[in-house]
Amino acid sequence: MNLNEKLQKYNDWVFRMSAYRMALAVIGIDKLTVAPEAGSDYRDKRTAFLSGELFSIETDPEMLKLIEELLEDENLDSETRRAAELYRKMIHDTVCIPKDEYVEAMELMNSSYNAWLEAKMKNDYSIFEPYLKKVIAVKKKQYEYRGSDMPLYDQMLDDYEPGMNREKYDAFFGALKERLVPLIRRVTEAEQVEDSFLYLNYPVSDQKAFTDTLLAYLHFDPSWGYQNETEHPFTNGTCSNDMRTTTKYLENNVISAILSTVHEVGHATYQHDVDPRYDGTILADGISSGMHESQSRLFENYLAKTKAFWECNYPALQKQFPQQLGSVSLDQFVDAVNVAKPSLVRTEADELTYPMHILIRYEIEKGLFEGTISTEGLDKTWDDMYEKYLGVRAEKASAGILQDVHWSDGSFGYFPTYALGSAFAAQFVRKMRSEIDVDEALRTGHFEICVNWLKEHIHHYGCLLEADEIMKKATGEEFNVNYYLDYLEDKYTKLYHLD
Ligand code: ZN
Repeated sequence: MNLNEKLQKYNDWVFRMSAYRMALAVIGIDKLTVAPEAGSDYRDKRTAFLSGELFSIETDPEMLKLIEELLEDENLDSETRRAAELYRKMIHDTVCIPKDEYVEAMELMNSSYNAWLEAKMKNDYSIFEPYLKKVIAVKKKQYEYRGSDMPLYDQMLDDYEPGMNREKYDAFFGALKERLVPLIRRVTEAEQVEDSFLYLNYPVSDQKAFTDTLLAYLHFDPSWGYQNETEHPFTNGTCSNDMRTTTKYLENNVISAILSTVHEVGHATYQHDVDPRYDGTILADGISSGMHESQSRLFENYLAKTKAFWECNYPALQKQFPQQLGSVSLDQFVDAVNVAKPSLVRTEADELTYPMHILIRYEIEKGLFEGTISTEGLDKTWDDMYEKYLGVRAEKASAGILQDVHWSDGSFGYFPTYALGSAFAAQFVRKMRSEIDVDEALRTGHFEICVNWLKEHIHHYGCLLEADEIMKKATGEEFNVNYYLDYLEDKYTKLYHLD
C-alpha cells in the first residue's frame, strides 16, 4: 500500500468510529434528558451492544499496525501525525488489558455505582467501602498492564491532564493552601455580604424566560446548540455544529441555573469553536479536562460574575422579577453573586472555597494510591480534612464522602483538573484583558468579542496542541499559579473590605 491507500484505509476507520460515537452520544444525551424510564432496559442492552462494536473497531490490531506504518512515513502531514499519535495511545492503553478482565471491570464499576447510590441514600459509607476497595485494586491492575515506568497515580493524573504529575500538583496545591486557607479564614471572620434576596421564591417559568435572553446574549445559537434540563447539568454533542447542554432550575435560588447555564455554554462554545475540519476525529475534543474546565469557569466566574456582565443583563432580570429584585441595586446584586462561605458540598461551593474541596480530594487520592490512607475509616478522614481546611464538618455521609460519583467508577485523577481549570482561566483572562476591553464588550452586549479572542488563542486548536503549548502561545508564558491567587486575593479583599 502506498501512503494514499493507507490514508484511505485510516480515514475509513476514523469515519466508522465517528458514526458509532455519534449514535452513542445521541443515545446518551437522550437517556439523561427525555427518554422514558420504562424503555431503559431495552435501550441499555442495545447501547451495550453498540459500545462493544465500537470497542472492537477502536482496538482493531490491524489498525494499530497501520498507524505504526503511517507514523514511520515522513511524508505524513503534521495534523494527521498528531491524530495518529493520539489514536496509538488510545489503542495501546485499552488493548493492553485482557478482554475478559476489561468486561469484568466494567461490571464491577456498574455494581460499585449502584452501591454508591444506595450508600448515599442510606447515609452509610460501609455499604460503599468494600466496592471502593475493589475498584482501587482493579484500577491498579489495569494500569500495570500498560507497562509504564511512571508511578501509578502519576499515570492517572496524566490521563486527564497530559503532562501533570504529583510533583506539579503538589506545588500547585501547596501554593493554594498557603495563600487561600488564611484568606478564607479572614473572609469568614469579616462582616458578611447580604445575599438572602437571591434565595426568595423565583418561579421556574420566569427563570426560563430569562434564560432565553441569557442564551442569546452568550451567542449560544440555536443553529448549533440546544439546551435541556437535567438533575446534574452537563455538555455533550456530536460535532462542532451540534452541541447540547443542560441546566437545572431551583425555585428558591435565582442564580444557580444562571451560572450553570453559563458554565455549560462555556464547555459547548469551546467544542463549537474547534476547527470544523477536525470533526469526527480524535482532534475534535478539548485537549484536556483542565483546559475544558478552564473555559467553562472562565465564562462562569471571570465573565458572568463581573459588574460589567450584569450592567447589561441585570435590567432584564429585574424586569422578570420586580418583586424579588426591584429594590436590589446592581452593586448589591453583583456582591451577592460573589459571596464566599465555607460549605460541605463541592458542587454548591463558591469561587473562593471551591479549590479547597479539590485539594481535599487530591490529598485523599494520593494517599490511597501511595498506601498512606485506607478506604477503612475514610469517611472520618474526609470529615477531619474538611474541618481542617474549611472549618466545617458533615453530619451525614451524603454531604461528606458520598457526595461525588467520581470514585464509584474509578475516575481517580480527575478531580485535580477542576482546580487547575480555574487557575488556567485566571492567566488567560489576564492576557485577554490586556488585549481587548472585556468590560466594555460585556457591558455593551458584545460577548462575541470575548469568544472570538478565546477561539483564536485557545479553542480552534482542539487537540492539535498540548495544554501547556496552548498556554504558552496564548499568554506568552508558562502556567503560573500566582495569577490565580493574586486574582482571588484582590477580589475578596475588596468584596469583604479586608484591608
Ligand atoms: Zn464543567
